[in-house]
Amino acid sequence: MKRILPAFLIGLLLAAPAAAQRAPSDYQQTDAVLAHYPALPDIALQSPAFAAAPPSLSNQDALMAFVAKLAGSSRHARLTSLGLSQQGRDLPLLYLTQEGLADPAAIARLDRPVIWLIGQQHGNEPAGGEAMLAVASALSSGELEPLLARISVVIVPRGNPDGAAADRRVLASGADPNRDHLLMSQPEVRALHQAMRLLPPDVVFDHHEFSVAWRWVEKFNALQAADVMILEATHPGVPRSLTDIARRLYRPALEAAMTRHGLSSHDYVTTDAARDDGMVSLGGNAPGIARNTFGLRGSVSYLIETRGVGIGLQSYQRRVATHYLLAKALLEASATDGGLRAAIAAARQEAATDRSPLVVSHKVARRPFEMPLIDPHTGVAKPTPVTLADSRTLTAVERRERPRGYLVLRGGKPVAEALALNDVKACEVAEAGRAAVEAYDVQRVTVETRRESINPDQSVRVVVRPATIDVPQGALFVPMNQPATGIVAAALEPDSPGSYLGVGVVPMNDNESEAPVYRVMTDRRFCSPH
Ligand SMILES: [Zn+2]
Repeated sequence: MKRILPAFLIGLLLAAPAAAQRAPSDYQQTDAVLAHYPALPDIALQSPAFAAAPPSLSNQDALMAFVAKLAGSSRHARLTSLGLSQQGRDLPLLYLTQEGLADPAAIARLDRPVIWLIGQQHGNEPAGGEAMLAVASALSSGELEPLLARISVVIVPRGNPDGAAADRRVLASGADPNRDHLLMSQPEVRALHQAMRLLPPDVVFDHHEFSVAWRWVEKFNALQAADVMILEATHPGVPRSLTDIARRLYRPALEAAMTRHGLSSHDYVTTDAARDDGMVSLGGNAPGIARNTFGLRGSVSYLIETRGVGIGLQSYQRRVATHYLLAKALLEASATDGGLRAAIAAARQEAATDRSPLVVSHKVARRPFEMPLIDPHTGVAKPTPVTLADSRTLTAVERRERPRGYLVLRGGKPVAEALALNDVKACEVAEAGRAAVEAYDVQRVTVETRRESINPDQSVRVVVRPATIDVPQGALFVPMNQPATGIVAAALEPDSPGSYLGVGVVPMNDNESEAPVYRVMTDRRFCSPH
């Protein structure tokens, strides 16, 4: 399934500043700093990196041998493949169920919460991927095995094997996989979502690492302090009740696990690569960030980041153990809450019937924040005042009545393919006819559109007006009364940052002003999605 992207779109994907793509050479922390981050000797990790001392990075062969052995020796683990990376490396996936099922439909029929764990989307963030192997082992025949009576688990230990082989954040193409989950332009991201379509996640944890020195030294002459930073989906289109489950069930479980093991933590914050930008952002609200996309498609979603990028294998056991402990806390909380699956199903149903106005675009609040950093030489706390862009505190820039559906008159095929990978159902209009709709008059605005941006700017502005149009046979109809309604709006409202029209999946000529996308405001069904 190869798709041809417009040249300028490829440009956008690759338009990261050079610094964002280069793996910074390893930063050697002082002994005084390292003393704050000792190993957690009580946490035994069954994974290839810890088979011998000192720990090592698990290369692709070691990873493949480990998962094959698990699947061969466990009653619960079944190994399959998402497909191949751009450079031909395997993308393994493990199903872990009480019954040892390999068929996604059969696993879905068990009617247990389905938990997806994803490691190492970013190649230079190895601890999350390594921890996924230890979790798989513990579920196969270790301390977590009893949980499989209550939950089913899917593990993708290494989402970006090419990046892992090159110690690089990005994919072989240079694109950042963790900004591509709405657009689906990259084969690794498409492969992941194809598997998710067969077995939709109730809960997704996405395991990353963050930069310890690099930008923090350049900007603040300090190092990141926290062992781990976490954040739920924050895009305003994420159903409120899913966010409530994240905060009610998982947040306390994660915090208890961290406190019990003496790990320091706070909400996930990041800062731009640009040296002169002193802003620190609480995550970001790009709809194509995995954490947000999973929320928009109807799953409870968390990002887990440990203190690890750019420091090689320093404190490696602690980093992997931290991911392990948080995944364990997540799985235990999921197995303990008997009402979880029903609550998530209710949240999805609520999303499908939501009639509230759409927040098409928004601004995030800025407020003073004391960033918990440490002195790079002594390791002593160095709380640093910064301005925080708070992605949880929003002001709507564009609010718009929620349509009942959309008609896409151009680019329908790639739009349908990308949406389907996020569990959106659409169909082709069977018979041509006239329709009363709302049309968009589009004005392109000049912004520095970077796919890597965590809070992307709008690349178009629109004026919405009533219109009557000819709908040709074969036009795409996308209804909004479905659980992944947030995906539909993020993709198809042209002025939603990162929209398919904004990035060129829905093409427009320079001399046109009317978008080939229309809002259907009535209950008229142009066809029946399947
Ligand atoms: Zn990452």
